[in-house]
Amino acid sequence: GYVSKSILTMPVTNSDGIVIGAYQAINKLDADGNDIPFTNEDTKRLSLAAAFCGRALESYLLYEEAHEDALTGLKNRRGLYSHYEKYIAPTLSSRKASLIICDIDHFKKVNDTYGHNAGDLVLKKLADLLTKQLGIDDGVFRWGGEEFIILLPGKSVSEAAEFAEHCRQLIEQRTFIYDQYDISVTMSFGVCELDRALTTEENVEKADARLYFAKNTGRNKVVSVLPADE
Ligand code: GH3
Ligand code: MG
Ligand code: MG
Repeated sequence: GYVSKSILTMPVTNSDGIVIGAYQAINKLDADGNDIPFTNEDTKRLSLAAAFCGRALESYLLYEEAHEDALTGLKNRRGLYSHYEKYIAPTLSSRKASLIICDIDHFKKVNDTYGHNAGDLVLKKLADLLTKQLGIDDGVFRWGGEEFIILLPGKSVSEAAEFAEHCRQLIEQRTFIYDQYDISVTMSFGVCELDRALTTEENVEKADARLYFAKNTGRNKVVSVLPADE
């Protein structure tokens, strides 16, 4: 039974004057609850509110953009740092968590053979696969070109390694279709349990050392323990 009797709409613009939204006031009432029309004074007030709203919305959108990778839609490196500091680091004293870093094997060859657009498609599809496998939207990050990081709160290193192995097999079995080509790739994985005494960067380096070992010992594998650890 809701009826719009009066509407005052104000465009919300960014600092370049481009409209990025609208601010609306609907059904003005007087003190007795009767419908009354909007006035010029209301227009002034709402345009003030819209100006503030525009700045707030713009800075929010810029923040999102700066933390997101345009190709895959995943959070990027900056996104990982803020996610880690906000949601992972504070929990490490009470529960374990693990980190997986993975890198496509010989990806340069995919670009060289099928072209850069084909490479882009593989990156997008891989990002989808990893996200879907994780079952949540915010645990996979694009760390660099063809490198991804997966954060697994609550998982020990052996559980994370098991998850990585599952992903590795799925990727190995998958074909990515681009034009008339069937493209296959493999990935190498480095896994470590997060150490709360280390910085975000140092924890990533720890996993990266395992990834490096996986690369140097044949690729298409998961490494969670280095010979030096044993
Ligand atoms: P390795 O098994 O040692 O990792 O070999 P690799 O060829 O995967 O590694 P290398 O570092 O030599 O090359 C990475 C390639 O990834 C080169 C670069 O052009 C490609 N790449 C990085 N970012 C993108 C992207 O956004 N799109 C496409 N299509 N290719 C990308
Ligand atoms: Mg690579
Ligand atoms: Mg790489």
